[in-house]
Amino acid sequence: MTEGLADTRLLYWEDPYLQEFDASLLRVEPDGQKYAYLILDRTAFHPKSGGQPADEGVITGSSWEAKIRKVMMVSGKIVHWTQILSGRSEGTAVKGRIDWEWRYLLMRRHTAGHLFDHCLSTATGTNVKTTGSWIGEGCWVSYAGKSPPKDVLESAEKMEADLIRRSLSVKTEVIPQSELMKVAPDAPNIQRLPSLADRIRVVTIEGCEPIPCGGTHIRNTREIGQFKILGVRQKPDDYDLIYDVK
Ligand SMILES: [Zn+2]
Repeated sequence: MTEGLADTRLLYWEDPYLQEFDASLLRVEPDGQKYAYLILDRTAFHPKSGGQPADEGVITGSSWEAKIRKVMMVSGKIVHWTQILSGRSEGTAVKGRIDWEWRYLLMRRHTAGHLFDHCLSTATGTNVKTTGSWIGEGCWVSYAGKSPPKDVLESAEKMEADLIRRSLSVKTEVIPQSELMKVAPDAPNIQRLPSLADRIRVVTIEGCEPIPCGGTHIRNTREIGQFKILGVRQKPDDYDLIYDVK
């Protein structure tokens, strides 16, 4: 389905706050009467990947509208699996509109998770290693080893609240993979990174260790709002820290 197409331009990397965009429809693959796979030259729809659920929203053409059901990354191309709400996809000029309320919640949860890596490393006095995360409903981040005692988690939680209040900037840049070990030798996810990419995206919360990450982030910690630990799920080799933002 993606054969012969150039890689999709990822607008959510260029501007995670982009809610509407214009694009060209490159390929349509019908899936029965009511569904279709759509590939655009550019998109603001984030695929399900790296613990982040897919964006929701609509793609519209001159005389048709399709609702996003799934978004996937397939060898550099973003594939939108859509439900056709009206008309039939034709023409190449389309508009996309993402469900901003959902995406913004994901950006806040996601950035809150990065900030917690920092707070937990500080509170435990050791660099934590993340083993996974999920920022959809039932949001959690998992860390290697045994959960620290309750008072340590509480002090990390308090530190996070303090850093949120301090309105720290959150910056993203793309650097060569070879530079990564220089700028982020202790990043909590350093062992989990794909080694294929020659360039890698790094997110830095002011005053914290840079973290390699391809996700979408807010610009300022204050946007996280209230951060709350909801529980801990100890597993054999790691534990899930369940949290949410309000
Ligand atoms: Zn991230």
